[in-house]
Amino acid sequence: MQILVVNCGSSSLKFAVIDPAARTEVVSGLAQRLGGQDASITWKDASGRKHEDMIPGGDHAKAMREVYEGLKARGLAGSIAGIGHRVVHGGQLFSASVVIDEQVEKGIEACFALGPLHNPPNLLGIRICKELFPGLRQVAVFDTAFHQTMPRHAYLYPVPYEWYEKHAVRKYGFHGTSHRFVSARTVGMLNLRGDDHAVIVAHLGNGCSATAIRNGKSVDTTMGLTPLEGLVMGTRSGDVDPALVAFMAERLGKDAAAITDLLNKKSGLIGLSGVSNDMRSLLAECDKGNERAKLAVEVFCYRLAKQIAALAVPLGRLDALAFTGGIGENSVPVRAKVVEHLRVLGLVLDPARNAANGRDSNGRITTDASVAALVVPTNEELVIALDTAGLVTV
Ligand code: ADP
Repeated sequence: MQILVVNCGSSSLKFAVIDPAARTEVVSGLAQRLGGQDASITWKDASGRKHEDMIPGGDHAKAMREVYEGLKARGLAGSIAGIGHRVVHGGQLFSASVVIDEQVEKGIEACFALGPLHNPPNLLGIRICKELFPGLRQVAVFDTAFHQTMPRHAYLYPVPYEWYEKHAVRKYGFHGTSHRFVSARTVGMLNLRGDDHAVIVAHLGNGCSATAIRNGKSVDTTMGLTPLEGLVMGTRSGDVDPALVAFMAERLGKDAAAITDLLNKKSGLIGLSGVSNDMRSLLAECDKGNERAKLAVEVFCYRLAKQIAALAVPLGRLDALAFTGGIGENSVPVRAKVVEHLRVLGLVLDPARNAANGRDSNGRITTDASVAALVVPTNEELVIALDTAGLVTV
């Protein structure tokens, strides 16, 4: 049995065929710049070989049809047992993955206001797949679902209560599939008790968030109503004084939406460094002595460490800190700085283990006597495939 995993973004469509039993990827790909004359679709087979086709002017429907035809040509279309869709915002309606029916489609639509950039293309992908694969069951896997276990005192903002009642203003959190997968792997790697563990996961990719997980449940997380809250990210500011929006709107003669856009797209690492939103490029700039790049990395690591320390509050203790995502899995100096800032929590870096990305030490990058910090590669596509397989075979 194989599962097709689909992640439909505003101008891109990521897909993968996954064998959930073997936990392997059979084929994957990415259609990008959809709608533009330079739209393309790239296929990557299991050996890593890539093949790109141009699809000038191709939209999501055209790209999905290319995927369908490509799967047929590879003899894979018949073995697909279900389709799993990444859906970003499930609001308060979805606390787990679900088989998609009309009610679920309506629910995803009801969350458009909360996820205006992501939910519409996510739903479009679902509708296109329904037409292309009419007999197949489809499953929605939500980024927000894992965080629905947060207690009220963690998810409510100290703002007028009617905002929550009338406008669903609260903390939702994102990257839930990654936090769920990585925390479960961490528990397994350290032989922690399933019913008694306290873990923090730092998912550091282009978007970054950290989550406190107590006994398999998210109890608090850094992202909020939108992914803008919390940690410093590639182009997002993370936490700032909310009064800054009106202040800069007045200074720049722009409206609140325009300033929020700048906080989302021109802030964080790119805003501070003026060089790049990409950690690998920034670290290369730091090596060349670029002071602004150094500053951006310092602020990133300092704020990350502070927010990780804050997440120890709902846990009461810390059994492990897991680093994941492109930065978490690969950026040796970032992990080193963060762990050094966290001595207060009992973390002591082992530089050799850290330099090897934890590969020689079952993920561990701290000394044996220290509280554990690990590198744990994430695999969101696999989680979507496993959830989908579980729901389409019952
Ligand atoms: P996304 O959130 O889009 O899935 P990724 O999880 O792939 O992103 O993470 C992208 C980030 O990981 C970028 O900032 C990139 O520079 C960083 N990264 C990837 N490899 C390395 C590396 N070897 N060293 C430092 N940073 C890296």
